Amino acid sequence: MSLIVQKYGGSSVADAESIKRVAKRIVQTRRAGNAVVVVVSAMGDTTDELLDLAGQVAPIPAPRELDMLLTAGERISMALLAMAIKNLGHQALSFTGSQAGMITDAQHGSARIVDVTPKRVQEALDEGAIAIVAGFQGFNRVTGDITTLGRGGSDTTAVALAAALGAEVCEIYTDVDGVFTADPRAVPKARKISRIASEEMLELAASGAKVLHIRAVEYARRHGVTLHVRSSFNNHEGTIVYNPAEPGADGNGDPVEEPIIAGVATDLSEAKITVVGVPDVPGKAAQIFNLVAKSGANIDMIVQNVSAAATGLTDISFTLPKSDAQTVLTTLTSERQDVGFQALQHDDQIGKLSLVGAGMRTNVGVSAQLFTALYEAGVNIEMISTSEIRISVVTRADQIQHAVRAIHTAFGLDGEAEAIVYAGTGR
Ligand code: ADP
Ligand code: ASP
Ligand code: MG
Repeated sequence: MSLIVQKYGGSSVADAESIKRVAKRIVQTRRAGNAVVVVVSAMGDTTDELLDLAGQVAPIPAPRELDMLLTAGERISMALLAMAIKNLGHQALSFTGSQAGMITDAQHGSARIVDVTPKRVQEALDEGAIAIVAGFQGFNRVTGDITTLGRGGSDTTAVALAAALGAEVCEIYTDVDGVFTADPRAVPKARKISRIASEEMLELAASGAKVLHIRAVEYARRHGVTLHVRSSFNNHEGTIVYNPAEPGADGNGDPVEEPIIAGVATDLSEAKITVVGVPDVPGKAAQIFNLVAKSGANIDMIVQNVSAAATGLTDISFTLPKSDAQTVLTTLTSERQDVGFQALQHDDQIGKLSLVGAGMRTNVGVSAQLFTALYEAGVNIEMISTSEIRISVVTRADQIQHAVRAIHTAFGLDGEAEAIVYAGTGR
């Protein structure tokens, strides 16, 4: 009997009808002779609604209590799903993250998995039951507290269980047909990708394509878990995320040349801070970024201008998550005298567009083509950064939608038919 781990996202279990529909699908998989472990997210936009609620009682909610609150969302869906399956005449048992042995560090809100001991899940499977596990949550042994893995973390729960239980495949069920060349909500002509290399998927996820949690992609790659992203609303084949380094990863062995560009992603979650008038002497960047690091912010892009000869002063700009900006501004302001800069600028109206493709390694001119296409679309570039297989640019936030469509077309990624989004609010 082969073991399949299936993860259902919030939009796939948004209401009672959806839960019943998903229950049927799970029972079919079980009746086809597979052992099944299911990971569920909270119903619909429950997590966002709980976050809003927390914000109404405290501007900065206590992290421990916030995790306690948010994990309630997945508890609701796991119990309802187990009831629906039982009602179809099959055995099912639901488990919280801690019951399922998801052991994490103590970092509330972004805990990392340190051990997976799914003893009770295995026992349920041995009894022939379908095991339902609450996604996105874990337990720290030292503090004895409940933790969460970060937004979108149910994907990672599913992959970690698939690895620990030696599952054949980890299926990620969502509200679109798989991984597309761009977000189908923003680019109607986005095309579904049948197979994508894990390194490209990692870059897309890191660049804002939220269809997969980046840590799920990393975990799957490290533990050799096959990921299959597909829709819970039909039986179409979705997208397989494969590791080119693994023997046999190329499937039928066809020496098909991969396309140069895999896809394009956008991210509106970052802000830009500019430190104006920094003395252009050794040690100033170190001083600034040590302060930034101390405030716990994750820096993305950094740009330093050429200093003006007359003043010997330069400007340093960097991008970071919007949610980290206020703390960083406060920290830098308090050290202004010591660092010796003139002023700080904060801009939260930026958007980032990233073009991703392993073929960039061996093809020159991709950046020139990108910049030309942006120019022709009338989009101004404010910052640029590159990796081996990615080029990212920062633009005005209100231009990002227009820019991503133009770039998608310019790189020949447009598909024939309009991409379908089956559910969800895109929140
Ligand atoms: P779930 O609730 O199932 O986890 P998410 O909302 O986290 O679903 O992820 C699915 C969404 O990801 C899609 O509805 C789509 O809008 C968005 N998305 C962004 N980029 C892509 C992409 N390249 N391919 C597919 N979906 C994408
Ligand atoms: N419910 C959590 C969230 O909305 C986890 C998840 O859906 O993956 O982020
Ligand atoms: Mg998700």
